[in-house]
Amino acid sequence: MSAVPSDDAPRLAAARRPIRGLPDGLVSQIAAGEVVERPASVVKELLENAIDAGATRIDVKLDGGGMRRIVVADDGCGIPHDEMPLALTRHATSKIASLADLERVATLGFRGEALASIASVARVTMTTRTRDAAHALRIAPSDAHDESTRKPAPSAGGVGTSVEVADLYHATPARRKFLKSEQTELGHCVEAFRRVAAARPDVAFTLSHNGRVVEHLNAATPLDRVMQLLGDEFAAAHRPLSWVGGDLRMSGFAGLPTASRASASAQYFYVNGRYVRDRILAHAVRAAYQDVLHGDRHPVYVLALDLDPAMVDVNVHPSKTEVRFRESRGIHQFVFRGVADALARGAEPAASPRRTDDDAASTEVGARSYGPGPSAGSAAAPARGVAQSTATYGRLFSEAGRAFAAGDPPSMAGRDRVEASPERSVELDESGLGSAIGQLHGIYILAQNARGLVLVDMHAAHERILYERLKNVLDAGPVPVQRLLIPVTLRADDREVGTVEEGGEVLASLGFDIAVLTPTTLVVRALPALLAGNDDAADIETLARNLLRDLEAFGASRVLTEHRNELLSTMACHRAVRANRRLTLDEMNALLRQMEVTERADQCNHGRPTWTQWAIGDLDRLFMRGR
Ligand code: ADP
Ligand code: MG
Repeated sequence: MSAVPSDDAPRLAAARRPIRGLPDGLVSQIAAGEVVERPASVVKELLENAIDAGATRIDVKLDGGGMRRIVVADDGCGIPHDEMPLALTRHATSKIASLADLERVATLGFRGEALASIASVARVTMTTRTRDAAHALRIAPSDAHDESTRKPAPSAGGVGTSVEVADLYHATPARRKFLKSEQTELGHCVEAFRRVAAARPDVAFTLSHNGRVVEHLNAATPLDRVMQLLGDEFAAAHRPLSWVGGDLRMSGFAGLPTASRASASAQYFYVNGRYVRDRILAHAVRAAYQDVLHGDRHPVYVLALDLDPAMVDVNVHPSKTEVRFRESRGIHQFVFRGVADALARGAEPAASPRRTDDDAASTEVGARSYGPGPSAGSAAAPARGVAQSTATYGRLFSEAGRAFAAGDPPSMAGRDRVEASPERSVELDESGLGSAIGQLHGIYILAQNARGLVLVDMHAAHERILYERLKNVLDAGPVPVQRLLIPVTLRADDREVGTVEEGGEVLASLGFDIAVLTPTTLVVRALPALLAGNDDAADIETLARNLLRDLEAFGASRVLTEHRNELLSTMACHRAVRANRRLTLDEMNALLRQMEVTERADQCNHGRPTWTQWAIGDLDRLFMRGR
């Protein structure tokens, strides 16, 4: 395909550059600093070098949590014999040669510092061989730390590079003391490994510790790789994501609330292939999850943002995990909308995204929808032995987006997304939530669709529908109001009376008419039309009290800006159908149809799922049919 941007082409095609010392002026521009904080920093740097060398398989061996020994072996391009001593020299790199290169850096490394820093605090042995070389060369530990005596010697070994780092901090016992237990250091190493492995499903990885295999990852599709790393919960509850706007492209997988965790331990964000921890990105994602996730839960995601390297400064932080965007506001908006859109996609079971036979057709659809972003273009692997452009990451993930475009329901939010073909939508409609069969224990609705059995949590689903509708009517302007035939009076304490006196305007804008009747009584005269229908006085009284309690807690002046959705959530929860309400089949079907057209209908406001699908195959297995 010809969509490879012209400035990428030479980078991919050009032969690897020689390692050269950086000019002094450039050295002073580079955010230098400590790179060898702990064994995990070594693992990270060595893995990044292997990736930059175009490796297709990387093996990591650790002993003693990485404190005793770390070996990273790759099948990448290797280092030419004459350049080998330079690899361990500070500020010598094959990746950039000028300030202009630094400003558009496409490799993970660029400072030429890592190997030198590691060699200064540990015993480094490096074996390397290029494709053209007759044999491998080896630099032994006794030489590695001393530039003057560094003399590579011929050695056995295949094409690629293997770096062994032994006895970290052997010469600096004071630093050694700061290392934690073997288990803790191992944990950090594993995390460093996973960060690289999640971003490069096309590369095979193994990780072993004290001789035992910890991770064995074959080259896989992005989804398979991510599922292998993040486990069953994520596999069963995520949305593939592919979002394009202008020069920006984001792809990856966003975990649904059911896959959320108690800590932020599984959040992977990549910018041009580089794992980053960035405040702006984290905030944008968090905001996108706000509607569906409880405050104390943390979403799980793997997201890759690709943009013109000139628009992001990666030379900010010693460990290169922080970046600075030139256009941070636009990036925030883009990421927020992309994630929110993925989460808002309507009713479609989260489990096992379908891979259909017409993948080819969906690829077509996808291909047309991707503008010529920085990483658009052919998925063909770049020539081996070439420092690989990190744009590959984005390409890999966007392939995933394409593969699943056919399995995605059409986006309810529409916006910038390209919809699937009309034939697809028809078929998806048929496999929606199906038709109701009955009610179970007054709590669940049973329905059947083309795939099998659908189970719906009636209250949770209704609550979500009401909540989304409330948001929509409030956004649309004055809220339609339903006056009560018989106003409801309630006894109230001072605080409740005070809240009504202060918050009358807010209440009115929400569609309520609540007034102070006497110093100890309130009267409810009208409700938002959406919540009307059940005029039971006790219900209306509880609704009013809950509303006033929220209003008081949040403060009338801020409730509609900062806490609006919490307030709407209270209202929705209160008015949603209760357990044990008998529904007719028509009412149940109406609820199913509403769910199909409601954003985020598959999670209630508290992040619990609202429905689940049991495919016929699942049921067959239960009864051991068809074996
Ligand atoms: P940087 O990655 O910033 O260039 P490093 O100190 O990590 O700095 O590596 C120095 C140089 O050694 C690299 O620029 C690269 O040319 C070479 N190198 C290091 N590791 C490998 C590897 N695994 N395969 C091929 N070349 C490597
Ligand atoms: Mg490096």
